[in-house]
Amino acid sequence: MKISDILAQPGPTFSFEFFPPKDDAAAQQLFEAIQDLGPLAPTFVSVTYGAGGSTRRRTVDLVKTIKAETGIETMAHLTCVGATREEIASVLDELRAAGIENIMALRGDPPEGEAAFRAVAGGFAHANELIAFIRGRHAFCVGAACYPEGHVESRSAEADLVHAKWKVDAGANFLVTQLFFDNEVFFRFRDQAAMAGIAVPILAGIMPILSASGVRRMVSMCGASIPRDLAWNLDHAANDDEVRRIGIDHSYRQCRGLLEEGVKGIHFYTLNRSIATKAIWQRLTRREA
Ligand SMILES: Cc1cc2nc3c(=O)[nH]c(=O)nc-3n(C[C@H](O)[C@H](O)[C@H](O)COP(=O)(O)OP(=O)(O)OC[C@H]3O[C@@H](n4cnc5c(N)ncnc54)[C@H](O)[C@@H]3O)c2cc1C
Repeated sequence: MKISDILAQPGPTFSFEFFPPKDDAAAQQLFEAIQDLGPLAPTFVSVTYGAGGSTRRRTVDLVKTIKAETGIETMAHLTCVGATREEIASVLDELRAAGIENIMALRGDPPEGEAAFRAVAGGFAHANELIAFIRGRHAFCVGAACYPEGHVESRSAEADLVHAKWKVDAGANFLVTQLFFDNEVFFRFRDQAAMAGIAVPILAGIMPILSASGVRRMVSMCGASIPRDLAWNLDHAANDDEVRRIGIDHSYRQCRGLLEEGVKGIHFYTLNRSIATKAIWQRLTRREA
């Protein structure tokens, strides 16, 4: 089923993001997470696409397997990195043949060791071009990324919002935000997006904090900010268990606040682990204070 059709129905969606595992141990961890999270009946799950198309085979196989074995709706991520339009067309054909109806269309980050993104000859320079290409080829439902605090390369958040609008104009059916830790950032962005004429649903990307060093590494790469009180609590946590408790508590309060303000969907960056996402979900469904 197309995610756009699900989003047209009332009520919020809940979705989980996974990445393709690198080795057998990581695959085991992922399948345990899927087994644990599957019974929560998410609206859909998505599978990321590794740098430079490095996970192409694994991404396609994983979305097929999850859909076939769990019956949960899936979305495959796809990037422009290192790929010509012919190569992208062949991935699209493969996804279509596998019955996948939803694609998260991204430009992608520069490959490791390269400072800036460079489109290959015959490839795409930006996500809006990829989206237009997908739209012209198959009747996929297409999601795109957006950045409530602006994309790291963008000269301003305003310019980045204009680029988000271009993605919608090219045919994106919905947007998913980069992770953020302050709901005010999301609400401000949602208002600005509406003023800019973006009328598609915006799903909030939530990343439960699993380790203090992990979250710091993540925000240093993507430019998201950590509210001062959360940063203080993480700095003063006695151990990893306390970090996880702080992280679960913070994400839970974020999700509750977002749902109270009518967010259309919450997309959990699970990092292939179930424990924090499941704990947050259970607290949400129990409607804890
Ligand atoms: C929800 C989500 C999922 C993601 N999944 C993956 C994944 O699976 N694999 C992966 O490698 N990465 C993933 N990423 C990271 C993403 O690839 C990077 O953030 C990347 O740097 C930008 O991708 P984009 O699609 O937003 O690019 P774009 O929309 O092309 O934007 C990139 C930069 O160019 C600017 N820009 C956009 N369009 C134009 C234009 N037409 N002309 C001039 N400037 C423009 C933007 O303001 C921005 O600064 C994901 C990000 C998010 C938020």
